[in-house]
Amino acid sequence: MPMTPLEEIRHSCSHVLATAVLRLFPEAKLDIGPPTETGFYYDIDLDHRFTAEDLVRLEAEMRQVADENQPFLRKEVSREEAVEIIRSRGQERYKLGRLADISEGEKISFYQNGEFIDLCAGTHVRYSSKLKAFKLLSIAGAYHRGDERNKQLQRIYGTAFANKEELAQHLHQLEQARLRDHRKLGRDLKLFHIDEEVGQGLILWTPNGAVIRQELQTFISEELRKQGYAQVFTPHIGKLELYKTSGHFPYYKDAQFAPVLESDALARVVAENCPCGEVFARLEAVSGQLREQINARTGRETITADRVRPDADLLDGFMLKPMNCPHHIKIFASQPHSYRDLPVRLAEFGTVYRWEQSGELNGMTRVRGFTQDDAHLFCTEEQVAAEVLGCLSLVRTVLSTLGMADYRVRVGLRDPDSNKYTGEAANWDKAEEACRAAARTLGVPFTEEPGEAAFYGPKIDFVVRDVIGREWQLGTVQVDYNLPIRFDLSYIGPDNQPHRPVMIHRAPFGSMERFCGVLIEHFAGDFPLWLAPEQVRILPISEKTIEPARALLARLRAEGLRATLDEHSDKLGAKIRRAEIDKVPYALVLGQKEAEAGGVSVRSRARGDEGVLATDACVARLRAEVASRALPDRRKATPA
Ligand SMILES: [Zn+2]
Ligand SMILES: [Zn+2]
Repeated sequence: MPMTPLEEIRHSCSHVLATAVLRLFPEAKLDIGPPTETGFYYDIDLDHRFTAEDLVRLEAEMRQVADENQPFLRKEVSREEAVEIIRSRGQERYKLGRLADISEGEKISFYQNGEFIDLCAGTHVRYSSKLKAFKLLSIAGAYHRGDERNKQLQRIYGTAFANKEELAQHLHQLEQARLRDHRKLGRDLKLFHIDEEVGQGLILWTPNGAVIRQELQTFISEELRKQGYAQVFTPHIGKLELYKTSGHFPYYKDAQFAPVLESDALARVVAENCPCGEVFARLEAVSGQLREQINARTGRETITADRVRPDADLLDGFMLKPMNCPHHIKIFASQPHSYRDLPVRLAEFGTVYRWEQSGELNGMTRVRGFTQDDAHLFCTEEQVAAEVLGCLSLVRTVLSTLGMADYRVRVGLRDPDSNKYTGEAANWDKAEEACRAAARTLGVPFTEEPGEAAFYGPKIDFVVRDVIGREWQLGTVQVDYNLPIRFDLSYIGPDNQPHRPVMIHRAPFGSMERFCGVLIEHFAGDFPLWLAPEQVRILPISEKTIEPARALLARLRAEGLRATLDEHSDKLGAKIRRAEIDKVPYALVLGQKEAEAGGVSVRSRARGDEGVLATDACVARLRAEVASRALPDRRKATPA
C-alpha cells in the first residue's frame, strides 16, 4: 500500500534518525524503522544504552541532516548486489534477515540520503528539507521481530507532522495524556493497585477505586432495572465440557488461561506417566456423543472426527470463565419458556479471565481479569430490533451522564462473499437492518463495516472520544444465532411449537476495569461529586473547632455523604492545598465564627471559594448534587 503524505514524512524521519545514529554511533546495528499511527521509530542494536541526552543530540543531528537538503534516491538492485551493499556497510546482523523476507520475484530496493543507505520499499519525501516538524520522544526495549527469544533492541520513538503547529498540538496532547495517565492518577489518588505477587494484569481495587466502581455499578443497575433486566450471579469457573459445547474451547485457547485440573484427575495422569502433550490432547478431545449432538444441531461438521477420543481417555477440568454467556444460557435453559416470557434479560457484572501477553498489559485498560457489564437477552426474531434499540438507549444515558457526548458507533456486518457465517441469510438481513436502524436513532456518526461481524451475528461497537480527543473502544452489542443452536435453546411459540430464540450479548462499557481507567483519564481524576471517593473534607481552622468539626462529620456521614476530617495541626493553607492535591470536590472550612453561627465556609474544587453557607443548606445542596449525578460545573480551566 502506498504511504500517505504524513506517513512519508514520518517514515523519512526514521531514515534521518538512522543517519544521525550512525553519525554519532558508527558501531550501531540497524533493524527496521517504519512509521506508526502517531509517529515513527527505529530499532537499533547498540551496547551503549541511549540516554535522554542522546535523544537531544540525535535530534540536533537530525535537524542538521534535514538542513543538508539530501535527496532520497531509490536504487533497485539484484539480491547479490543487495547483500554486497549491506556487507559494505557492516549491517549484516539484521538487514540480511530483512532481505531474506523479500520473496523471490519481488523488487529489492534501497533508498539513499546523503551518506546513508537503507534497504527499503519506500516511499519517502523527495528531500530531507521537507522534514520541518519532528521530535524524538522516548526509548524503549523491543525484541527483534517481537519475539522474546530474540535479542532486545533499543527502540527510539519519535513523531513528526507536516508543520510546527500540528506538532505543537500533538505534543500538548501528549502532555495532557501524561498528566491524565490513569496509572499515575491511580497511584496518586489510591484508586487501584497491581501487585506482581498477585499477578500482572490483575487489578486490586483499593477503597477509593472501589467506591467509583460501586457507584457506577449502582447507576448502571438502576438503568437496567428500568429496562426490565434481572440480575444474576454465576461462578468464576465452569467445566471444560461447557466451553466445548459453546465452542470457546479449544478454539480460543490461546486467549485463555489453561484449564484447571481436579487433583484426582491430575494424580491419575501422573500415575499413568502421561506426557504433557498428551494431557493437553486429552483435555481438548471431545466425546463421540458431544460431537454428534453439536453436529446435528448445527447441521454441519462443526466438530471434526479427529477431535473425538474414547470416553475413558477424556480428561475433564474447569476453565476460568472467559465469557459469561454459557453460564447465562444455562440459567435460561433451566426453565421452560413460552413466547410470553420473552425477552428474558439476564444481567451480571461478571468477572472473566483472558490470557493477554505480558507485553500487552497496560494498567486498567489491558488486563487478565476483568468484570464485564455483561448481559444476555433471549428474545424472538421479531424482538431483536427493539432490544438492540434498548441497549443503545442505555449507552446513551450512561455516556451523557458522564459527559461523554462525543462518541461514534461501528456497525459490523457480514462479508457477503464469505461463507464463514452461521445462520440463515434472511435472519442476517433482518439483524443487520435492526442494528443499522438502531444506530441511526442515536444521532451520532456511525459507520458500516462489512466483514467486521462476528461469525455468529452482526454487532455494534462503541468508540468514545475523551476531552483531549483520544478515542477509546468500549464495549459491544452483538446479535447471536449460533449459541442458541449449539445449546439447543427453545421457547414455545403461539403455535405451541418449539422455536429457537435469538441471543443478544451486550457489554456496552466493556469492563469495569477498562471503563474506570478511561473515566480516570477523561475526568483527569476530578470526578463528579456522585463518583468522587471522598466527596467532602472538613478543615477546622484550629484546635478550637475540632469538636464542632467532628459533629459536622457525623452529620454528613449520617446524610450519606463520603466525608472526612483533616485533624492535622498545620495551617489552613496547608490543609487546603492537601485537599486540592487529593482532588476532593468540596472542602468545608470551619472557623469559630462559622461554628457559632451554625455555618461553614464552602470551597468548591470546580468553582473556588463560595462563601459561608448555613450547614443545613450546604448539606441539602451536596445531597442534591449527588442525587442528580451532575457533572462538575467548571468555571476554572482544566485542572493542572
Ligand atoms: Zn524507507
Ligand atoms: Zn456473551
